[in-house]
Amino acid sequence: MSDLCWECQQNNEAVYRSANLPDDVKSRKVQQQESHLAVVHQERSLYNSMVDDARRVVVDQHITGLSCSPPNSRPITMHYCFDYAQQVHYPSDPLQPGPMYFLTPRKCGIFGVCCACIPQQVNYLIDEGMCVGKGSNAVICYLHHFFANYGLGETSVHLHCDNCSGQNKNKFMIWYLAWRILSNLHTSITVNFMIADHTKFAPDWCFGLLKQKYRNTHISSLTDLSNTVTASTVKGTNIPQLAGTEDGTVIVDTYNWHKFWSHILCHCLLSRKSSIFVFRLTTLAQYFIVSGQRTQSRPLT
Ligand SMILES: [Zn+2]
Repeated sequence: MSDLCWECQQNNEAVYRSANLPDDVKSRKVQQQESHLAVVHQERSLYNSMVDDARRVVVDQHITGLSCSPPNSRPITMHYCFDYAQQVHYPSDPLQPGPMYFLTPRKCGIFGVCCACIPQQVNYLIDEGMCVGKGSNAVICYLHHFFANYGLGETSVHLHCDNCSGQNKNKFMIWYLAWRILSNLHTSITVNFMIADHTKFAPDWCFGLLKQKYRNTHISSLTDLSNTVTASTVKGTNIPQLAGTEDGTVIVDTYNWHKFWSHILCHCLLSRKSSIFVFRLTTLAQYFIVSGQRTQSRPLT
């Protein structure tokens, strides 16, 4: 759990300030925080159960690592989560004796797609020359590359990501996942948005290992950074994937998904409270939003 949740802070402050107020007021403030934590706990339990289920599949199928597999070819359910890390800079020297020669170090973004049940994470290293922004189009491009090159070929997939509407929780992501079903790249997809500020999950663990190594390593090029990602774990948990090389060769193709969808699919409004979207081949005509309480499902038309 993150300690920066605005709602937790507000509720805890309200409880603290109600010390001299009547008991029924105090009780209401406590209940408010309890109900918030209950929802957080419910979300966390769902995440843990999805990872545990996927871990059992990995053991049963003798899967040892992420690999390029034909899409929709293996009748299993897999779980992946993805997120951006804070960007890093290079050249970087842990023993930097004085001012740097470079006025501005080069920036490199990191986008990680993690399969927590193996565990392995593909870290997309996005040099500033290869950066196409941090919006939903970029997220879709990296996810698309991941499924094509590292996916286990599962028919059914659960995805977890944070609640950021600019990157993940928007119509383009929803349309991309619907397109995957229609294109027979998956049979069933659920995308789960974690509650804002309660988003500690597997990618953070992998990013932490990566950053730890980065802080202690002399890095003078993108290749050095890539090698640092590989060296950040002993068992190959962190896998580097360059978005493009130093000589300008593009490795991860970027597509204009926004334009691609604009002529095909209608506009849809996403509620900030909805936390799960479910896509299945049989019910794609109307995909379903499960509300935050997970008790109702209704078609989105
Ligand atoms: Zn909270």
